[in-house]
Order: sequence, then structure tokens, then C-alpha cells
Amino acid sequence: MKHKSIAIDGPSGAGKSTMAKALAQELGFLYVDTGAIYRTLGLFALRRGAAPGSWTEVEPLLAQVSIRMAYAADGLQHMYLDGEDVTRAIRTPEVSTAASQISAIPQVRAFLMDMQRDMADNNDVVMDGRDIGTVVLPDADAKIFLTASAEDRAKRRHAELIERGETVDYDTVLADIIARDDRDTNRAAAPLRQAAGAALVDTTGISLEESFRLLLRTVQETLA
Ligand code: C5P
Repeated sequence: MKHKSIAIDGPSGAGKSTMAKALAQELGFLYVDTGAIYRTLGLFALRRGAAPGSWTEVEPLLAQVSIRMAYAADGLQHMYLDGEDVTRAIRTPEVSTAASQISAIPQVRAFLMDMQRDMADNNDVVMDGRDIGTVVLPDADAKIFLTASAEDRAKRRHAELIERGETVDYDTVLADIIARDDRDTNRAAAPLRQAAGAALVDTTGISLEESFRLLLRTVQETLA
């Protein structure tokens, strides 16, 4: 039986993961966070002292790395790097940058493709990332491009980091978001863009609850 898939793409901090998770729960689908996969590989490169943006330095690592994704009893997606649960460790600003750099390498994207497609072949999924609707699942049943202004996204990300006890100022978060947008949008390999047939959901200036209702309505209309 063919499984259903919903692709959600968009820039950093647009609320993709929070909303995709809620959507998956609402529909009874599995939530797959593909950014976490790039983050895990980015963390591996950092730990090995390799420059995440350098293919020559990253290439030998691909034969050595073991990345696994599993769903815990809490329903959350956990990432394992060589057997170690790195679900929390991949959420630092350093790993965000490393993930963004490593994901610009075309061979890295190809290397991680099967893992993502396998998830969609075997489950009904809500999958979020940057190239899900354009490259990974171009035939997804519904495609969404979720975005918000850079300032709104920086405000949310800043609040999240503060809540987690990190000491970071708003301007640094905004600069980081702008730099990541630039890398994700302008890279040659699978650049971030709205997929053909994707519905645009812009959450600038609206609350998370309103954004979710808008997303849910858009998806339901597409699936109907
Ligand atoms: O979504 P998240 O911010 O966790 O992703 C981290 C980085 O991984 C992004 O900045 C992006 O460069 C990269 N990424 C990607 N393709 C995806 C998911 C994430 O290139 N499908």
C-alpha cells in the first residue's frame, strides 16, 4: 500500500518542526525531521576535527559514520551517532552552522537521501526540511512552503534558546538566521525554494496557534 506523505519546507526558524510535529500528531502520521540527520553528520565532522564545508575533509568520514534514527516511547525522533543518543547535542548554534555547511555538499545530500526516502516508503509521514518537496519527495500528497520574516524567526529562535538556558543575544541569532538563509538559498545543490505545486504558508506576525490552524486548513484542502 502506498503511504501518504506531506512535505514541509522553509527557512530556519519558521516554526516548521513545531508545526510539522503537531500536524503529524493530528493526522496520525510519523514526523520526520530531516534537519536532524544533517545536524548529526555535522556534529560528527566537528568531533573529528573536519571542516564541515570541505568535501575533501568530509569524504573519508562518510565511510566511517553510523547514523540511526529511532522513535522513543515518548514518540520523539531520537538521533544516534555511533550508538550515542545525540538528540540534544545536535541543537547547539555550532552544530546548526556545521549542518548548514555540510548540507551544501552534493555528495552528502546524495548519501543521506535513501535514509529519508525509506522513512516515507514505510510510513505515512510529515517530513520537514529544505528540499523535501523539490527533491526528496517530489510526489508528496501535499507540499507546503512555510515561512516568516527573518526578524520574526530570529525572535522565536532567540526565545527558544534563552528558555533552554543558552546565553545568546538577539542580534547574533538574527545574523545566524540570515547567514543560513543565504547559504541554504544560494547553494548549487538542492537550494531552498518553494516546490512546484507547494502551498505558501506565511506566519509573519501571527501566533503559533493561528499558524497551525492555517497550516492544517491548507493541508486538509490539498488532501481533499
Ligand atoms: O532544519 P534544521 O535547521 O535543523 O536544519 C539544519 C541545517 O540542515 C539547515 O540549515 C540546512 O542547511 C540543512 N538541511 C538541508 N536539507 C534538509 C534539512 C536540513 O539542507 N532537508
